[in-house]
Amino acid sequence: MTIPSRNPFEAKLSHDGHTYNPGKGSAGLHPGLKTYGVIDPAEKIGAAAEEKVWECIVIGAGYTGLIAARDLVKAGKQTLLLEARDRVGGRTWSAEIEGTTFEMGGTWVSHVHGRLFAEMQRYGLKDSVSMTRTEGGGAAYFTIDTGSGSRRLSLKEASEMTFRAWRIFINVDGQDGRSLCPLPYSSLGNSRVSREEVEAIDKISCQDRIDQVADQLTADEKALIESLVPHCTGGTAANTGFLEMLRAQALQGYTPETFEECWTLYKIKEGQSTLARKIFDDADRLGLQYAFKQPVRSFVEKDDNVTVTTASGMAYKAKRVINTLPLAVLPTVQFDPPLSKLRQEAIQIGHVNHLTKVHAEVTGDLRGLRGCTFPGELLYVYGDGFCHGDESTRITSFAGDNRGVLNPLQQPEKLVTALKRFHPMEIKKVYFHDWLSDPYSLAGPAWYSAGYLTKYLDELQSRHGNVLMANSDWASGWRAFIEGAMEQGALAADIVMEEVGIQGANAVVS
Ligand SMILES: Cc1cc2nc3c(=O)[nH]c(=O)nc-3n(C[C@H](O)[C@H](O)[C@H](O)COP(=O)(O)OP(=O)(O)OC[C@H]3O[C@@H](n4cnc5c(N)ncnc54)[C@H](O)[C@@H]3O)c2cc1C
Repeated sequence: MTIPSRNPFEAKLSHDGHTYNPGKGSAGLHPGLKTYGVIDPAEKIGAAAEEKVWECIVIGAGYTGLIAARDLVKAGKQTLLLEARDRVGGRTWSAEIEGTTFEMGGTWVSHVHGRLFAEMQRYGLKDSVSMTRTEGGGAAYFTIDTGSGSRRLSLKEASEMTFRAWRIFINVDGQDGRSLCPLPYSSLGNSRVSREEVEAIDKISCQDRIDQVADQLTADEKALIESLVPHCTGGTAANTGFLEMLRAQALQGYTPETFEECWTLYKIKEGQSTLARKIFDDADRLGLQYAFKQPVRSFVEKDDNVTVTTASGMAYKAKRVINTLPLAVLPTVQFDPPLSKLRQEAIQIGHVNHLTKVHAEVTGDLRGLRGCTFPGELLYVYGDGFCHGDESTRITSFAGDNRGVLNPLQQPEKLVTALKRFHPMEIKKVYFHDWLSDPYSLAGPAWYSAGYLTKYLDELQSRHGNVLMANSDWASGWRAFIEGAMEQGALAADIVMEEVGIQGANAVVS
């Protein structure tokens, strides 16, 4: 049984995303892509919205905010949702381009993401899963170009090489990380590992760890790890903490062999924006009030209530606020009283993820293609199914921190050169969302440097008075994943329900 919902949606033009037509220089660049995520009309808000005291205001309609808002209205709480963009989904959204779905941000889903699959099940999408890998697709090999020229490996050879290197890299305790990260949701210490042991391991970066084991790795294997870390974290091996990789390894079951199933294989066939839209429509049906295209500028707490002011000068008051702004965006809003010194320090240091993700539509069948170029302007490539019937292939590619090296908005032609390094290809169009210049993300999903988590994670997760801070960027478990956003949204909504008063069906009679 599933929740009834308006579907199929109509894809409407969002302000977000870009198309690049190769060969036309910067004249080939066009902003805006169609998505099911656009909310039109952008507002549903009562005339007295500024006079009343809301039980909760949720800021941000990414997955954290959507889950929180839906859970709150479902529990009968008077809830207002404010979002800066014209669409739902935040850093997860899908563009609909001439009959093909392109995931611009968060993409892959996995059976180990329990909250996410529960939502897919609830909204009728549990079985609606497609695969990035195409069995029997064209160009089914792995091109490796890691310093001594480009050559082709079979997909099996490439996996075996990566797994061997990864095991050596991760096996810091002789138990594939089990003794240091036995309970990844409590990665800063728990009944099986002390805080001191975690602090010691949090001191080292991924590059430190690679250097420790470099004599056991071939040059290609070393390069594969040095590129896989930034592929996962959007940073560099040098600026990513090793504890982050231990946690990821623990969450995927202490083996590299599940990496594909947990990270890069399954997608929602109808696109992420369909799921986001279904959650939003459910909340709408239950009475949510909302305003899109309304960036929030400040939070002022006085007499236990919080006043939220938007860029357009609207001011709304609530007993509680769930603020889901990503870490990199927090400096753009004001808090009165100010945030703690420790949180300010954490925000100022920030996280390491400054990734690039691009899609290309290429002529012919390259559905089986995989590859790694390192050092390179794009690190990994995935053939990702046909586009437009069977005429061309969708290619997806990622880079880590490319700031100062490749700016897709200023040098889009460089994307084409970088893609062609993986394989000869005729590129028809390139599609991307530049998450770094986007004022409502300013970065990718958060991965942290050595020493950061043990110093700041508890503070990031803590509340600021009656403003609850919830975002995938500081989730306990699948941080930097959709699953982590859902964790954060559900927990924050529970706290608000508890505090603003919830009455069970059978009230206790004393
Ligand atoms: C390129 C890329 C690839 C990814 N791949 C995967 C993947 O394959 N699988 C996976 O599980 N995860 C993936 N992720 C991570 C996943 O997308 C995020 O963890 C998740 O979407 C974060 O959700 P969130 O609600 O916590 O934050 P966000 O989605 O960032 O939501 C915050 C919301 O706040 C809004 N906002 C910002 N500023 C303001 C303001 N001033 N006023 C009002 N609203 C504001 C934003 O517009 C946004 O809607 C990827 C992310 C990116 C960018």
